[in-house]
Amino acid sequence: MNAEKEKIIVDAMASFIGHTVKILPDDVGAKLRELSEKETDPAAMAVYETMFRNLRLAEELDRPLCQDTGVVQFWVRCGSGFPMMNEMERLLTEAVLKATRETPLRPNCVETFSDVNTGNNVGKGVPVIWWDIVPDRDDCEIYTYYAGGGCSLPGKAEVFMPGAGYKAIIPFVLDRVTEYGLNACPPLLIGVGVGNSVETAAMNSKKALMRSVDSVSDDPKAAEMEKLLEEGVNAIGLGPQGFGGSSSVLGVNIVNTPRHPATLGVAVNFGCWAHRRGAIVFDRDLGFRSTTHSGFKG
Ligand code: SF4
Repeated sequence: MNAEKEKIIVDAMASFIGHTVKILPDDVGAKLRELSEKETDPAAMAVYETMFRNLRLAEELDRPLCQDTGVVQFWVRCGSGFPMMNEMERLLTEAVLKATRETPLRPNCVETFSDVNTGNNVGKGVPVIWWDIVPDRDDCEIYTYYAGGGCSLPGKAEVFMPGAGYKAIIPFVLDRVTEYGLNACPPLLIGVGVGNSVETAAMNSKKALMRSVDSVSDDPKAAEMEKLLEEGVNAIGLGPQGFGGSSSVLGVNIVNTPRHPATLGVAVNFGCWAHRRGAIVFDRDLGFRSTTHSGFKG
């Protein structure tokens, strides 16, 4: 009986990975269309056209929409009453092995120091799995993300003295955009994390990338800063793929948690135009649905 349940999860997750490396989430696709319709710069318009052709061909030819299928990362928000919690790490790893063979995914797991590519996207600590245990729930929400070498893997974090003030976040983010934003294939989704240390800020910045591109922080001050940063990054004028243009961002999302009186941790992570994040929810009977990809049927 358990073998049957395990097969449902492995098959569903391998299929979801296959779908989400080929098809953008609904919100990202809609935002790209919105930005392209507003664009007036001829070079930028041509880049958007190429992006939409790329998306169409990925779907028609059943291939990943970018050659860099990234490091597979999961953020698992698991209800404490979900019956398969115990098995999830093993099953998610099996799903990555299956998706690597069947989709296929490019092998992107290189053992550090020996520099050997494991060839199957699995190694010690890979796929990356972050857990949140959610009390009083019996479902399991899983965010999938394919962190590419140009976009969200080269994030940056720093801990400021509190005297620097929250205004220090603005130049920190803008400097990162001018430093390596081009490598991240704009328009960018900018995930900013604020917290008490490097690691809490970094985790918050990753969670920020899982919010939808048009979402607004429920903290009014953070929401104000999201708007300011969006205006500031657009003013830099990178445009799609760095060819110049009126928009350089899909969105700016800030996730903030309290800081220590003596520290202000800040981190930034970029998502690229091919922002392949997905979310799937399993109920306790292992029925499932995606909240990001309306076309995913399993
Ligand atoms: S930044 Fe994104 S679109 Fe560009 S190569 Fe990396 S994964 Fe692909």
